[in-house]
Amino acid sequence: MQTRKLYYEDAHLSEFTAQVMTCEKTDSGYEVTLDATAFYPEGGGQAGDTGYLGEVRVLDTRERGETVVHLCSSALEVDSMVAGRIDWDARFLRMQQHSGEHIVSGIVNRRYGYHNVGFHMGTDVITIDFDGVIPDEELASIEAEANGAVWANLPIRCWVPTPEELPDVVYRTKRALPWPVRIVEVPGYDSCACCGTHVKATGEIGLIKLFGTVGFRGGTRMEMACGKRALEILDGAYAQNKLVSQAFSAQIMETGAAADRMNALLEKQKFRIVGLQRQIFAATAQQYAGKGNVLHFEDSLDSTGLRELTDAIAKECGGMAAVFSGSDTEGYGYCLAAKNGDLRSFGKEMTKALNGRGGGKPGFQQGRVMAGRAQIQDFFALPRKSN
Ligand SMILES: [Zn+2]
Repeated sequence: MQTRKLYYEDAHLSEFTAQVMTCEKTDSGYEVTLDATAFYPEGGGQAGDTGYLGEVRVLDTRERGETVVHLCSSALEVDSMVAGRIDWDARFLRMQQHSGEHIVSGIVNRRYGYHNVGFHMGTDVITIDFDGVIPDEELASIEAEANGAVWANLPIRCWVPTPEELPDVVYRTKRALPWPVRIVEVPGYDSCACCGTHVKATGEIGLIKLFGTVGFRGGTRMEMACGKRALEILDGAYAQNKLVSQAFSAQIMETGAAADRMNALLEKQKFRIVGLQRQIFAATAQQYAGKGNVLHFEDSLDSTGLRELTDAIAKECGGMAAVFSGSDTEGYGYCLAAKNGDLRSFGKEMTKALNGRGGGKPGFQQGRVMAGRAQIQDFFALPRKSN
């Protein structure tokens, strides 16, 4: 059965009346066919339409041969007339993306000779895969040319040439297609074989934004968005940048420089903190001069700080320096150091007793224990044969 495809007669038709031809129950709902439909079935990278037939929800639309199948949430009476209403906002958004994609693919094809070998309309950005490498620095100029086509508000022509006309029609395709071929033409920018729905004139696309490219299978995957989708993404990015500008007290178009300045300042501060920390470590180590074995707790040290403080104490105390940093709830990181002697068996004994793990060289051990401070102190207070 052939469904009359109203979406090819008028891509802007969102409401129509049609007769129910068949309705069959399936595992996922009801498959309904009509004598005519404005619901576009999934194809050519464009998703199938959703909407309503009467009060019944249309969850998806697919093509089966020449028949358009509506996947519905409930049954419809065969032979009855139903009012169809497609989710126009979603469909128009897809038309904006699809027509925009043709313009960009046409420009890339003309400039580099590359073909669009993959097109995906996700929920966020759309991606186009090209079979060649597009230099990232040329994106801005491709984007400018594409938006030039939008602002020129060119009429988009969708047509099926006759078998006699077809050999003379120049269009973007990787291989020769048999008649009938539907051609979508953006005058001066693109001519392409396509089964999708498109806006009437390029001005409806509103805006074409190219976000970037990544290498993909020896070619290029381009990320882009058009129309309302592009505006939503740019709105989101602008809102984020506004927060950054407030945080840095910087002009909204100067946040990059402000972030660079902040990073440079942080780097300088970090350097200064390391210097100050070393002075504190030296002073702490001095307190333990000649004291023999030392057990020391210090708040919130990172692994570098922990190692440096332990080394500093070991140089002064004349015995083994054991430094712990952490909390009873999250456990303690530790370092053990001694100028002379082998700490490996002591380290093993300690991690076993304090539920931890670690290791290292004979004169230096590090790791982590899952034990409380009191438990650690008790372990170090135990009398030992030697260490
Ligand atoms: Zn297309």
